[in-house]
Amino acid sequence: MSFAFCPRDGAPLAPRLIDGRPRPACARCGFADFRHVQISANTILERDGALLLIRLSYGPREGHWAFPGGMVENDETLEDAARRETLEETGFTVALDGLLTTWMRPELELLVVVYRAHALHGALRVPPAEATEGRWFPFGALPASDDLAWPSHVHGLAAWRAATRVG
Ligand SMILES: [Zn+2]
Repeated sequence: MSFAFCPRDGAPLAPRLIDGRPRPACARCGFADFRHVQISANTILERDGALLLIRLSYGPREGHWAFPGGMVENDETLEDAARRETLEETGFTVALDGLLTTWMRPELELLVVVYRAHALHGALRVPPAEATEGRWFPFGALPASDDLAWPSHVHGLAAWRAATRVG
């Protein structure tokens, strides 16, 4: 996504060379459009030798398994977003156990971040608008890559395997 008009004052933007690239810029207030990368914050939720995945109920990857997670709002931290989305999508209040990996998809202007997490309290409950079910997968019986929703999640599970040496 790129702006044609200044989001601050509505003036038309014109290309200006900044940091080696022409960028839409506002002559009135100095705003420059560096474009916008959306960030998706996700968790690998671990418990008693298993991971929790949710089965998507919408979109082109309906029926595939995904980490709990979603888009970061502009007024929250990545960690807050990961905890919030996990609670919304699984019913579990979680604590994060560190950043596991990131995965940039320039073609989508999307950065995916994956945290490890464990549940503090709650009970499994998925929102029907987003998922048909949540399931704990034993470390040794995780879904095949083709059954995962997104390349970032294939990458995330590979990173998790490398970090834990199980599954
Ligand atoms: Zn402006």
